[in-house]
Amino acid sequence: MTAVTTARPLQAVLPARMSCEDLMCIALRIITSQRAISPRCYTSPVRESPSQLLSAIAEEVRRCTACPLHSGRTHAVPGEGPVGAPVAFIGEAPGGEEDLQGRPFVGRSGQLLRRTIREIGWREDEVFIGNILKCRPPDNRNPLESEVASCRHYLFAQLVLVHPRVVVTLGNHSTNLLIDPKLKITQARGRHIIKDGVSFLPTFHPSAVLRDMKLLTEFRRDLAAARQLAQELAQPPGAGG
Ligand code: SF4
Repeated sequence: MTAVTTARPLQAVLPARMSCEDLMCIALRIITSQRAISPRCYTSPVRESPSQLLSAIAEEVRRCTACPLHSGRTHAVPGEGPVGAPVAFIGEAPGGEEDLQGRPFVGRSGQLLRRTIREIGWREDEVFIGNILKCRPPDNRNPLESEVASCRHYLFAQLVLVHPRVVVTLGNHSTNLLIDPKLKITQARGRHIIKDGVSFLPTFHPSAVLRDMKLLTEFRRDLAAARQLAQELAQPPGAGG
């Protein structure tokens, strides 16, 4: 894997080198609708645990009417996974089955993702799985910029709270939002990209793999690389020779 550094930091939204308390404070401000990050964040105490804040974000998502997608949803799909998950898999938006169940990646492409996660040795309930948008776009069209702008703070807050060692971006949309707006998934996939201390590993969206099963080998290889990277990053500095 090649480590590269790219521009457009995630920390443009989430400032670097903050304490856990700072991060929880920002997440709390976000979910209580004070969406601008203010210096007051750094001085007011946060009593909720990261898990409680993650649940509160999910509740906020289920109530959200910030963009027109809320009117067409059966269920919002906040995402799922525990605080401290070693990896977060991030796609673009829920599809039909996800909308019906209120859970991420449970349709055909989701089953492929979940099966591959199990095959490489993770349990589904130990990883975080989510999307940029939390409500289904009509006819599964691509997310609009305005929808992403309305919704992305939920994902940023989730990533702050989950604090995964590796973020696997699935397809162009999450790669462009979280890493670099110009990056193409065909060029970026399988590369370890470090940005502001966050390790990313982009790969294909599983729906692209379903459309072209020749991509499955690389998809599996990328997920296995993400697992290896997460294990390496879990070791204390100097361990492992
Ligand atoms: S897509 Fe996001 S911003 Fe739009 S209504 Fe759903 S939760 Fe709110």
